[in-house]
Amino acid sequence: MQESMKKTHAMLQIKDIEFKELNIPFNTAFTHASASRHSTQTIWVKITTTCGLTGYGEGCPREYVTGESLESALRFIADQKKVVLEDIHDLSTLTDWVNENEKLIDSNPAAWCAIELALLDIIAQNEYCSIENLLDVPIIRESFTYTAVLGNNKFSAFKRQALQYKKLGFLDFKIKLSGNLKEDTEKLDFLSKSHSAVRIRVDANNLWKNKDEVVEYVCELNSPIFAIEEPIDPEQYEDLQAISRSLAIPIILDESLRRRSQLDYVKKNPSNWILNVRVSKMGGLIRSLKVIQEARKHRLPLIVGAHVGETSLLTRAGFVIAQAAHDSLLAHEGGFGRYLLKEDVCDESLMFGRNGKIQYSLDKLSSPGFGLAINS
Ligand SMILES: [Mg+2]
Repeated sequence: MQESMKKTHAMLQIKDIEFKELNIPFNTAFTHASASRHSTQTIWVKITTTCGLTGYGEGCPREYVTGESLESALRFIADQKKVVLEDIHDLSTLTDWVNENEKLIDSNPAAWCAIELALLDIIAQNEYCSIENLLDVPIIRESFTYTAVLGNNKFSAFKRQALQYKKLGFLDFKIKLSGNLKEDTEKLDFLSKSHSAVRIRVDANNLWKNKDEVVEYVCELNSPIFAIEEPIDPEQYEDLQAISRSLAIPIILDESLRRRSQLDYVKKNPSNWILNVRVSKMGGLIRSLKVIQEARKHRLPLIVGAHVGETSLLTRAGFVIAQAAHDSLLAHEGGFGRYLLKEDVCDESLMFGRNGKIQYSLDKLSSPGFGLAINS
């Protein structure tokens, strides 16, 4: 039925690809083991077509996740602009480009993500359909429930934030670990005692060097956490699996999951893993959807992740992969909007409200393109 809603229009001709750094200050700093951030670190792309359409894209280069910097991302877009402008005119030429340039995107995922989202936006608008409709993702939810993510702050700030989340009715929590046993224990104890019926996971952002240190630390924490994210240096799948088995909890792969081929290391043992899929680090929606498709085939549970400081555009893109994750979706991160950003890219900022939810009607989910009134 979705197919028939698409109208086929003439092939698009891109007129221009503009790009810049988007620097929006935060209302409050956010810290974890790999970085502390006071403003966005974002690439923003605007694509215009000869028929008068405008599309927008966003990517979050992070040295410690994808090896990209703002400079490398800006350089990548400048280098690829001409070929993208000449070669891509619809979904088929876009998909071909993504498949033919896999290695190039592997090294520049956030930069490509910014271009790809803007391209998908204009292609969907041209076909007068939503991004979900364009990519054949069925819409199964009109509400998205977010995790309360608590940064690595001093206990007083942690406590204040945890209580704010509690007041809003959040039930799912992720804590960024510091590696200081006393501090981390204090935080976990506070959260599990003050909040009943909550689910807690922790993110170590590659804090430790070896698996034995992790097992010892988590045993000493002695807290009912249901999973641990990225405890050691990325991509050490054997050691990560050993940690999962020793602690009897799954490992969440984030820095260790940036491309589909990495699933080869984990797909045989789904009970040891949870995948954190963030659109920007995966290199856009087309690649994210392929990872999700393969993950579901192997019964690997999924978390839709987010980079700190994503605007409403990447939040909206996250809805697409949350729909695609279907019943494999375990948790959803992001949705901070103006809670974190001093200003957003659209007047109606996408941000969680009561019970950590964003309600988004079928009507809005069916708007052409991403359906956001961007004013950036
Ligand atoms: Mg993480």
